[in-house]
Amino acid sequence: MLDEKDKNQITRVEAKAQPMDIPPQECTALGPLDPCAIVIFGASGDLTSRKLVPALFNLYLNGGLPKPFIIVGASRTNLSHDEFREKLRTSCAATDNEDLALWNEFAGNLYYKPVIYDSPDSYRELARFLRELDEKYQAGGNRIFDLAVPPSLYPTIAEMLGEAGLSKEGENGNGWSRIVVEKPFGRDLLTAEGLDKILKRSFQEHQIFRIDHYMAKETVQNILMFRFANAIFEPIWNRSYIGYVGIIAAEKLGVENRAGYYEQAGVIRDMFQNHIMQVLAMIAMEPPSLFEADLVRDERAKVFRSLKPFDGSRHEDKLILGQYGPGIIDGVEVPGYREEPGVNPQSLIPTFAMMRVFIDNWRWRGVPFYLISGKRLARKMTEIVIQFKRVPHSMFINVLGEEILANRLVLGIYPQEKITLTFQTKYPGARSCLRSVTMDFYYDQNYSGPELEAYEKVLLDCIQGDQMLFWTNNGVLLSWSFLTPILEECETCGDRGAHLQPYSSGSWGPETAQKWMKLIIDDA
Ligand code: NDP
Repeated sequence: MLDEKDKNQITRVEAKAQPMDIPPQECTALGPLDPCAIVIFGASGDLTSRKLVPALFNLYLNGGLPKPFIIVGASRTNLSHDEFREKLRTSCAATDNEDLALWNEFAGNLYYKPVIYDSPDSYRELARFLRELDEKYQAGGNRIFDLAVPPSLYPTIAEMLGEAGLSKEGENGNGWSRIVVEKPFGRDLLTAEGLDKILKRSFQEHQIFRIDHYMAKETVQNILMFRFANAIFEPIWNRSYIGYVGIIAAEKLGVENRAGYYEQAGVIRDMFQNHIMQVLAMIAMEPPSLFEADLVRDERAKVFRSLKPFDGSRHEDKLILGQYGPGIIDGVEVPGYREEPGVNPQSLIPTFAMMRVFIDNWRWRGVPFYLISGKRLARKMTEIVIQFKRVPHSMFINVLGEEILANRLVLGIYPQEKITLTFQTKYPGARSCLRSVTMDFYYDQNYSGPELEAYEKVLLDCIQGDQMLFWTNNGVLLSWSFLTPILEECETCGDRGAHLQPYSSGSWGPETAQKWMKLIIDDA
């Protein structure tokens, strides 16, 4: 842990990325992409206009969509094709890309089909419409069905697609057929198993793409390159040299306009079951023999299998749950969670969690992993901290008279995608003094090609049929197996409120979490 004096002494130097040997286009160029139709259910909603269509538009601008491509929005709201295009133009113009001529070109391939989610006739009609578009565009019958709807509708839509023959590959004019499922994948182990059974009635595992957009962030993908394409880190990436690991995803925002969803989910379902667990797996997994989707995903799943189960007792050194109260963020007073529109004034939903977990295997036995996420915290940041152990013996004790700070490696995901390594050097001058220096590598240094936003990457991978960054069903169930007992204890015991600790908006979480937060966050 750094104390105030230590932190002030850290000097920063910048690690310069050498101009790349490989021309950037070799990293960015895509192989041929199969033409396809992307059908978005829930197309009148927030995810479609804020993330999915802007991501598809950006892909289009960067040559990342197949030729031809078709996008069909489908939801209950009655919209004409033009009304749908106009609604989305506004949200896409809000991104960096304001080239309206290109938007018009892109929007020419956008269509809208009103559907009733549980009506077989709607799906027969949709199938007919897709066949017409296939003929018009010569799109080959390849389809992606993206479920941007509330999770309660996933089973219905999957079944209806199956009944309408839209999940069958290579039949009735169909090419390949893929279904994209957004988190949450169930509410707990039982419901996740139930959802999987229903999906599998119509789709096979290779057709199911369970999105975790965190996995598509460049720095998260980079973890495997960093670990396994360098000889110097892997030998020390274990219990002998690493003291603890911190994974933190902190948000400054509150629940915003998503109270309906969040009141059902809470921080564990919203952040831990998916994003945090996947990052944990990337940090802790063993190297597969090849960088291939199945092999990498198997290794990630093994990490979940090795997680030491919570023993049922809730101790503050293992699990801290909190809920934000009123406070001040950026000088502005903000309400507490229970005062937010749409939130139950007696809500017991946690908006903060800190878990101290262990991975029971040869590499990690005894190393604590601090997993932290919360809303309305002091600042928005996502970071992975690898804290190395101190030197076993200080030969400088007689000259320096103080302990030597341990090395720390930080993989920053937000606000900056960067890697920082802190180490000790001699302070220039006559006396023998140590100083900590931090070497920063900024991820986009010396790179000027297009950058893929996370949703662009996952959609592109789905078009390419590459499942590397997506959850397997096995992974989902293992992750729930670990978290369900924790959720059950939080949600079913009579005194559930007793362990929910309030914290002020704009702070670093509940008082009891502070000693752990200080381990991970320099300015906590
Ligand atoms: P919305 O609440 O905006 O719903 C999307 C659309 O679903 C609505 O426009 C509505 O369209 C349709 N719908 C059908 N039944 C209902 C219902 N009972 N209540 C509300 N809408 C209904 O969801 P989002 O777009 O925010 O999210 C879609 C999915 O993606 C969800 O599963 C969510 O958990 C997940 N997700 C969302 C993220 C986000 O940032 N928004 C981030 C990560 C995941 P219509 O009435 O026209 O049929």
